[in-house]
Amino acid sequence: MKQIQLLLDNADTFRKELLEIQHQFSDCCYLIHLFYDKDRQPEIQPIVDFIHKEFPQAHCLGCSSNANIENGMINENSILAVCTIFEEPDTKIEIFQYSLNAENQSSVCDDLLEQVKQRPWVKAVELLITLRDMSTTYFCDRLSEMDEHIQIFGGCSFNKNLDRYDVSVFSEHHGFLEEGVVFVLFGGEHLHIQSSYITGWKPLGQKMRITRSEANRLYELGGEPAFDTYYRYLKIENDEFFYRNTLEFPIFYERNGINVLRVPAQCLEDGSLIMTSDMPTGALAQISYGDPQTILKSIFHEAETLADFVPDGIMIFDCASRRTFWGNEDINRESLPFQTIADTAGFYTGGEFHRFGKSLNQHNVTLVIVGMREDVSCNANKSGLLKEYHYNNEHISMVRRLANFIDVASHELDETNHKLEAMNERLLRMATIDELTNVFNRREIHQRIIQAAQSAQQFSLIMLDLDNFKKINDTYGHDEGDAILKSFSSIMQSVAESVNYPVSIGRWGGEEFMILTEHADAKTAYELSEKIRKTFAAANSPVSGHHTVSCGVTQAKPEESADSVCTRVDHVLYHSKHNGRNQTSIEEVL
Ligand code: GH3
Ligand code: MG
Ligand code: MG
Repeated sequence: MKQIQLLLDNADTFRKELLEIQHQFSDCCYLIHLFYDKDRQPEIQPIVDFIHKEFPQAHCLGCSSNANIENGMINENSILAVCTIFEEPDTKIEIFQYSLNAENQSSVCDDLLEQVKQRPWVKAVELLITLRDMSTTYFCDRLSEMDEHIQIFGGCSFNKNLDRYDVSVFSEHHGFLEEGVVFVLFGGEHLHIQSSYITGWKPLGQKMRITRSEANRLYELGGEPAFDTYYRYLKIENDEFFYRNTLEFPIFYERNGINVLRVPAQCLEDGSLIMTSDMPTGALAQISYGDPQTILKSIFHEAETLADFVPDGIMIFDCASRRTFWGNEDINRESLPFQTIADTAGFYTGGEFHRFGKSLNQHNVTLVIVGMREDVSCNANKSGLLKEYHYNNEHISMVRRLANFIDVASHELDETNHKLEAMNERLLRMATIDELTNVFNRREIHQRIIQAAQSAQQFSLIMLDLDNFKKINDTYGHDEGDAILKSFSSIMQSVAESVNYPVSIGRWGGEEFMILTEHADAKTAYELSEKIRKTFAAANSPVSGHHTVSCGVTQAKPEESADSVCTRVDHVLYHSKHNGRNQTSIEEVL
């Protein structure tokens, strides 16, 4: 396999160069990518016609771009032709082209999936696509249905001018489309492809929930207008530098277990942000930071991995916003390391596609790198040169140190917060729960009865007093008395769990308990009381045997005070005691 790049500055020279290539590699299969400035689209068709006539074995496709990558370096002015020449006879290439919009995307996906299914030889799918305002979530999810071993990668066409939306893709099949997609299917036993993606941007600070968004319009992060996050943490203003500033701090969001980057391209009056692509409600998001040194380090690592694959040619789909981030002087720093491995070509995109694991994702601010090789290899191994790009670890940029500082500080703050929360919980428990019996203390149950009385809802009280409790203490000791109080409390709790209305249980004092049953009349409360009484009577302490409890039940009258109901239920309980204990008395009010 060989990759040869030609510049279309002069049509005649270009034609001559193409014919020379054909002469040299006469029996091979060709794939020719053309990347062009949209304004120069009229120059492409005659070239395509020429290729069609002179190279019947060539496949041809391309798209408009923000700029091109020629031999690992930015080329803003020329139309770039990347000829990939496959020398292995069983390498297969096929191209499919569709017009594409939000309405027909499902049938496009259906058709492509079917075509791929019919071709078991497919190892990888490249796509060049026009995006405009179409959400890609559905598109990516559908294409993820492809057999898991098939790699998918590609880029969105773009305009030279970041503010302009006119873009196109084309292939040998249907010419130029302003809303369309072209797929290249790659396969063959002796063709090997390795694709990866890289951002180099690193997460910063806390994760936030996306609380409201619609397609690429991000309304709220953590319940607040999304712009507020940028203003509060980074003091980024909504002015003409907004995009340039947010580009250094785009947002990661978690999709299919990986971080996908989105940049706020514009801020609207309501504080919502127009992002470079979809961000779904409910996902977790995190601000990230771009630091040249960190990025270069990540790129070097990625290049090292690709060097081990020993590719014959490399394709790069590099986000145009990375070009804005670096500036034209420095942008080559992230593509040149790949040129030391193999000839590297590509273009600056409006979005990048890469399949990771099973799922295809549409990225922004990302570099998608594809290495290809055939068993018949043309690549004179250049990987020794990559060492020149080794990142020097001795000096770490201020941005990285500050980002680390923020990470450590917020981690420490998290830990302190967790400790405070745990302490708060303990304090709250101490203030409301009786230590011995684990039911509410008197203050809490009293408070709840007052609230119930004020809320004008129906409620009843059950007051319970253990029978002859003093005797237990006197006969078996205070510890056995405590044990009976605990077992009685847990009986009350487990019986209360079986009813479908709210029940609050509290220790009124000593061996007296009070139960508040909300939305329950006296008869309902009576049933609960009797269930508790009978369960307790049936229980058996290994030390002191069986015990009993006396209970009183009453229902609150409309607008009756809490104290008045409490006094009445005490009287009703007294009636049970007087009447022989181990029973529930009830005063029906209504
Ligand atoms: P009655 O059937 O009339 O209710 O008789 P009683 O013995 O249960 O009633 P009395 O009020 O005479 O006695 C209650 C006893 O409960 C007195 C007190 O020592 C004991 N007591 C109160 N709080 C606790 C406690 O937390 N643990 C133990 N072990 N005993 C307690
Ligand atoms: Mg008592
Ligand atoms: Mg008692």
